[in-house]
Amino acid sequence: MKEKKKIIIIGAGLAGSEAALQAAKRGINVDLYEMRPEKMTPAHKTGDFAEFVCSNSLGSYDTCNASGLLKHEMEMLGSQLMPIIHEVAVPAGNALSIDRNLFSSKVTQIISNNPNIKVIRKELKDVPTDIPVIIASGPLTSDALSTSIKNMLGQDYLHFFDAIAPIIEKDSIDFNKAFFLNRYNKGSADYINCPMNKQEYENFYNILINSPKIELKSFEKDAKFFESCLPIEVIASRGIDTLRFGPLKPVGLIDPRTGTENYAVVQLRQDNKSASLYNLVGFQTNLKWGAQKELIQAIPGLENANIVRFGVMHRNTFINSPKVLIPTLQVKNIPHIFFAGQITGTEGYTESIASGLLAGINISKYILGQELVELSRETVLGALTHYISGDVQSDFQPINSNWGILAPIDADKKIRKNKKLKNELLAKRALDLLQSISKNV
Ligand SMILES: Cc1cc2nc3c(=O)[nH]c(=O)nc-3n(C[C@H](O)[C@H](O)[C@H](O)COP(=O)(O)OP(=O)(O)OC[C@H]3O[C@@H](n4cnc5c(N)ncnc54)[C@H](O)[C@@H]3O)c2cc1C
Repeated sequence: MKEKKKIIIIGAGLAGSEAALQAAKRGINVDLYEMRPEKMTPAHKTGDFAEFVCSNSLGSYDTCNASGLLKHEMEMLGSQLMPIIHEVAVPAGNALSIDRNLFSSKVTQIISNNPNIKVIRKELKDVPTDIPVIIASGPLTSDALSTSIKNMLGQDYLHFFDAIAPIIEKDSIDFNKAFFLNRYNKGSADYINCPMNKQEYENFYNILINSPKIELKSFEKDAKFFESCLPIEVIASRGIDTLRFGPLKPVGLIDPRTGTENYAVVQLRQDNKSASLYNLVGFQTNLKWGAQKELIQAIPGLENANIVRFGVMHRNTFINSPKVLIPTLQVKNIPHIFFAGQITGTEGYTESIASGLLAGINISKYILGQELVELSRETVLGALTHYISGDVQSDFQPINSNWGILAPIDADKKIRKNKKLKNELLAKRALDLLQSISKNV
């Protein structure tokens, strides 16, 4: 009997799960190593695969948004996780949000039942050298494996900090003050809004800027934060109104009781299918837990909030991809080693799944002796992989989907200045291109 081709994937997170299903779909045997629950990371809570560690939102699903377009690109490339995401989606206006526990348990079940995937619940401490591998061990890669990767690449790691937002029980919210509404009244009313007048906002702000934070260890003191996911206390430290123009902006939220916009609004997003839990949007934080409770309970409507998960902050590790990767996600000069997920410096849930998708396709092609896929910068996924593996940048930082990294469109100035029209054209160009190549993928 002909022996089947085999690969190893390290990490059954978002990228590793998608990659494993891609390879299995192509008839490749996968040994999938996952260290949880035997060895947990500081952020994961379960032993299930593809766990969403913080927010339950994947952002927009609109093709006129770069992250939304990326999701459509992934669907065209045959993503295995996207259909499960739709199955477990919870109402969230224009965004795609999910019941995270249901999602992880479904992914775990599907992977565990796949005859081509052998799940090995064990920490892999060394990068195997004699077999094709995808390293998808995430921003919280275990120490032993981190050392092995560092030795293999001959490069130091880079890192930044990411924080998690608290989750509260819906039953503990006072709906005499809070109200359901989506910004600009779009779609059904999915978000819970806690309105603040000027005095309430200033009280909240004063508590926030005087709240004690969890001390960083000395080696973490020069840490960088990811700019689009800053802890709320860092945003507040930039001025009294930064929150009102950021996560607490009241724009487009007309209070049904007064018919006017409030001074500031705290939004809560549904966190599970049964709608018993809600997370605080933009409230990722590193405050001490007692201080988090005081702060949250200073928000009108949340005076008796029952917090089921507090915010915490974690160090995220990523490799210096511009120095070590090529756009197929292979290591330069070590073509049988691939990287996928947040460890490559693509930031975000959607981006992690997307790079797992590409790595899963490419490692399969590699092993089957076929030409690997290098997506062009006309697609969001291609733009991301070219960005991280591009010319060496002096200060490489993680990147999430955005229009700025795509190849510019060839259109006249008038169109290029019309943001909506320009994005529509960029989206059409990407989807047309993928349509033409998806058959060969
Ligand atoms: C604290 C925090 C909050 C975040 N919040 C958000 C957010 O709100 N929104 C967002 O879009 N993105 C967020 N991210 C970023 C990113 O989207 C997630 O980290 C995402 O899970 C990354 O996917 P991944 O597959 O690369 O890694 P992971 O999903 O972390 O998967 C890696 C897997 O590898 C396993 N592993 C590690 N080392 C080993 C080993 N040696 N052997 C075997 N298994 C191993 C881990 O247990 C884990 O299951 C956050 C990240 C962190 C750390």
